[in-house]
Amino acid sequence: MAELTFFAGTMDCGKSTLALQMDHNHRARGRVGLVFTRLDRAGEARLSSRLGLDVPAIEVTEDLDFWETVVGHLTAGGRVDHLICDEAQFYTPGQVEQLARVVDELDIEVFAFGITSDFRTELFPGSRRLIELADRTQALQVSALCWCGRRATHNARVVDGVMVVEGDQVVVGDTAPVEPGAAEPEVEYEVLCRRHHMRRMNSVAAQAAALSADVLPFDLDACPVPPPA
Ligand SMILES: [Zn+2]
Repeated sequence: MAELTFFAGTMDCGKSTLALQMDHNHRARGRVGLVFTRLDRAGEARLSSRLGLDVPAIEVTEDLDFWETVVGHLTAGGRVDHLICDEAQFYTPGQVEQLARVVDELDIEVFAFGITSDFRTELFPGSRRLIELADRTQALQVSALCWCGRRATHNARVVDGVMVVEGDQVVVGDTAPVEPGAAEPEVEYEVLCRRHHMRRMNSVAAQAAALSADVLPFDLDACPVPPPA
């Protein structure tokens, strides 16, 4: 019996590497899969990992219909045993429902990989629907660490060096490097522990605080939670 499985993690937790490994393991056993991704850093229609591996993939545009895509593949004589779906946080709730239908009605295994929450600590719509519908949600072992050494559980967006907690869920600079000299601000991401995410204390802010206080702000009193705006 096929299942819809959601592998959930933070950034930098090795999720795309696991997606590629999962595809490889199934192919090695003679199984045939389709690989999907959206807004991968390697560019359209590639699934890449930070370890340098990458494979061709189907780009999940807003109007891609998983059900139609898989049925089209099967009716053309293709074989599909499983789907590997990376960057699933960016899928629409409707697309996640199509994935559930592929599992239930076609008995095809679906492995979805995604980041659960955004830089504001709010669930991405695609991840929310996956948590609601998946047969299993598996938290990926977090190997990423906050600058303080604790397990990094939250994603921080850093714009021109300053951590922000408001703004659009996806912005220019998330997927493509900003041209030097362009008007767009530099957007980076850093993974933090919850304590330091709540206190807006990314590594740059921690260094600045350390310079003024002669001690790293491990002490939570040194970096209080800012009042709501
Ligand atoms: Zn920390």
